[in-house]
Amino acid sequence: MSRPATVPSPLPPVRGVAPQFPVIQLENVSKTYRRQGAEVEALHGVDLIIRPGEFAAIMGRSGSGKSTLLHILGLLDDEYEGTYRLDGELVSGLAPDKLARLRNRKIGFVFQSFHLLPQLSILENAELPALYAGRAPAECRATARARLEQMGLAQRLEHKPMELSIGQRQRAAIARALVNEPRMLLADEPTGALDTRTAEEILDILHSLHRDGATVVLVTHDREVSESAERIIHITDGQTHDGVV
Ligand code: ADP
Ligand code: MG
Repeated sequence: MSRPATVPSPLPPVRGVAPQFPVIQLENVSKTYRRQGAEVEALHGVDLIIRPGEFAAIMGRSGSGKSTLLHILGLLDDEYEGTYRLDGELVSGLAPDKLARLRNRKIGFVFQSFHLLPQLSILENAELPALYAGRAPAECRATARARLEQMGLAQRLEHKPMELSIGQRQRAAIARALVNEPRMLLADEPTGALDTRTAEEILDILHSLHRDGATVVLVTHDREVSESAERIIHITDGQTHDGVV
């Protein structure tokens, strides 16, 4: 059962800046996995607003629904109830090809286990989303190179993922996520596969991107990681709550 959709309203102007829609606006989003007759309700009536420039951590224990929520936000999953507006545009119910295009243009996704293609160099990996977007090949290459250099990988462009340290792999994955200048960066346990020092390095990168204006939503079960965020959204049993629990 879903509530009637309400018309989104832009946020009031701040110091003369034009009004902006939330980057994310979820209303009453629920998700039930059905498998072999068994049902698991992973999300239950989630309402969530993320504004441009926020750094939010979604924090919860294993099985609480974090990845399910992030996959919906990242347009990787469109089988849910409720409404989702991305940049003010209703995206719940859009056809898969439209969702793929929006995902490519507006969302940078960083996974715990990098998801780099092993047979390609990191330069080729990083330029793929730009090629999918239909940009000129030379521009794709130049942008991918610039993002990898920004991530400190200038000397590693031709290396394959397996030839890099795990921290370098995650930095390459972040470069790839940034190549189309997305509206937001979504990261699912981006430090979960890393040792403490490398995890700090990756977290520092996400914070510096945020300082440069990026909207960042990360998912974590690590209290220290979540406490570095300016906003913590707790998730328990598929329901979200802001601030302390
Ligand atoms: P988290 O990322 O917080 O660990 P998930 O979003 O992965 O949690 O999972 C939330 C709940 O949904 C869990 O009970 C999990 O077992 C269940 N779940 C996740 N993915 C699937 C799936 N593909 N099929 C069935 N159940 C799933
Ligand atoms: Mg998860």
